[in-house]
Amino acid sequence: MTESSDKPSCPLCGQKDQVIPIVYGDPKPEDMEKAERGEIMLAGVLRYADAPTHYCRRCAHYFGKVKTESR
Ligand SMILES: [Zn+2]
Repeated sequence: MTESSDKPSCPLCGQKDQVIPIVYGDPKPEDMEKAERGEIMLAGVLRYADAPTHYCRRCAHYFGKVKTESR
């Protein structure tokens, strides 16, 4: 079950084991459970242009962009 997700590596520490996705919009019940386990972060319904997509728990660093850009 390694490398099965599309989790990116943290740009600061280069690891991905502490990287969790940030979920926007109305959370599903399963999302609430995951958030309680610290597997994801719920950002609520707020969404802004440069909102980060992932969070590194090791570095407390937000990174990624919701909007996909080609470089
Ligand atoms: Zn990190």
